[in-house]
Amino acid sequence: LKENTLRDWVIVGSGLIGTALALYIKSEITDNLTIIDPHGEPLAQWTNWAMNCGMQYMRSPASHSLSTDFHDLWRYVRSLGEDPMAVFLPPNKRPSLRHFLQHSKELIRRISLDEHYVQAKVQDIDSVSGYWALATDQGAEFKSRKVLLTLGGRQSPRIPGFCSQLPWNAVHPLIGPRLPDELGARVLVVGGGISGVQKCLALAVSGRRVFLLTEGATRVSLYDHRVGFNGPKRRGELMEVEDVALLKLIQSNKLTGTVTPDLLEELNREVIRGRVSLLSLTEEPSSGEIETGPEGISLLLGARKVQVDAVLIAAGFEERVPQNPLIQKLMVKGFPAEMGYPRLNQNLSWQPNLYLAGAMAELRIGPRGRQSHRPSFSPPKDL
Ligand SMILES: Cc1cc2nc3c(=O)[nH]c(=O)nc-3n(C[C@H](O)[C@H](O)[C@H](O)COP(=O)(O)OP(=O)(O)OC[C@H]3O[C@@H](n4cnc5c(N)ncnc54)[C@H](O)[C@@H]3O)c2cc1C
Repeated sequence: LKENTLRDWVIVGSGLIGTALALYIKSEITDNLTIIDPHGEPLAQWTNWAMNCGMQYMRSPASHSLSTDFHDLWRYVRSLGEDPMAVFLPPNKRPSLRHFLQHSKELIRRISLDEHYVQAKVQDIDSVSGYWALATDQGAEFKSRKVLLTLGGRQSPRIPGFCSQLPWNAVHPLIGPRLPDELGARVLVVGGGISGVQKCLALAVSGRRVFLLTEGATRVSLYDHRVGFNGPKRRGELMEVEDVALLKLIQSNKLTGTVTPDLLEELNREVIRGRVSLLSLTEEPSSGEIETGPEGISLLLGARKVQVDAVLIAAGFEERVPQNPLIQKLMVKGFPAEMGYPRLNQNLSWQPNLYLAGAMAELRIGPRGRQSHRPSFSPPKDL
């Protein structure tokens, strides 16, 4: 499509939700669409995070693929000559990251979705008579009748205070830029949620000596939000409360910092094998308890002195409300907001023909908006 062609749909953001919805729009509605994301190809940023975290299995079941067909990933695995019942992880049949990504790539290939991809960041959106004009950081302008924003919920990783005393090139957040290939033989992972534990296990399996620093006992849950909260029965609760009560309801239904039962079992095995040591952070080490030198970093954590080469951070996030510069810019221009979120109607429309899905729609669709890639948005079919 030429840059000045009027599109039917522009999808901004190509994470799990943006890509799933782009696949749906191209197959069911129109092929006059463009996807804009700065990361080079569909799912690039998400794949990087998953790799950084040493993810082996998805947390969500195999029925949650990027296809709208619940059985598509099952069929795909069968087409590879593998038995889904044997390869998906019980009890809720979770696919491996490898199968999930291969299948996603296959869906993208099947309908040539990458032909619609433009690598850029959208910096501004304006309503012009009858369409939306999107300006990118590459100096281009795209026009579209309908726009969908799936920008994720960017949050700053929480970095414990003592890390400011460590060499900058030895401390890496897991949800961030790609980790360096060489981390050294001894690694401290801070944070006992699913990202930290997965990374800790991947490092142990690769032969490294790993220390896992947590703030308390590991909490177990299959999912990262209460099951049923997003179902049709309980979804009504979202409609009944407002403002701070609504935000609290959503927060209280998230189970952040939990790990799946299989990961806890594997962690315990690695502790017994002696490849992982568990440490509890009761008090942050003071500056006198941290030394750096040619031998690496030495820290006194509780009663134990550890020596490591790198520190990986998976200690949660600072903000509770998702942040995105584009959304903030539009709010400053007067697009309606509530409690830091865009104020959407029940169809997830922010303005006529401008829609949001994912973390930014959390006030309307609950914690699943942020934590699952099954989009709760049905793109309208009229053009
Ligand atoms: C390590 C990890 C593991 C996870 N595991 C699972 C799992 O197993 N199952 C599950 O259901 N969920 C999982 N999740 C949660 C899941 O990733 C999120 O629900 C999902 O990523 C949200 O998708 P999204 O497309 O809304 O946002 P994101 O995946 O965050 O993608 C947003 C995209 O928007 C782009 N963007 C932002 N601003 C702009 C702009 N101005 N212009 C253009 N593009 C822009 C970004 O570059 C990015 O590519 C996991 C999350 C993480 C971090």
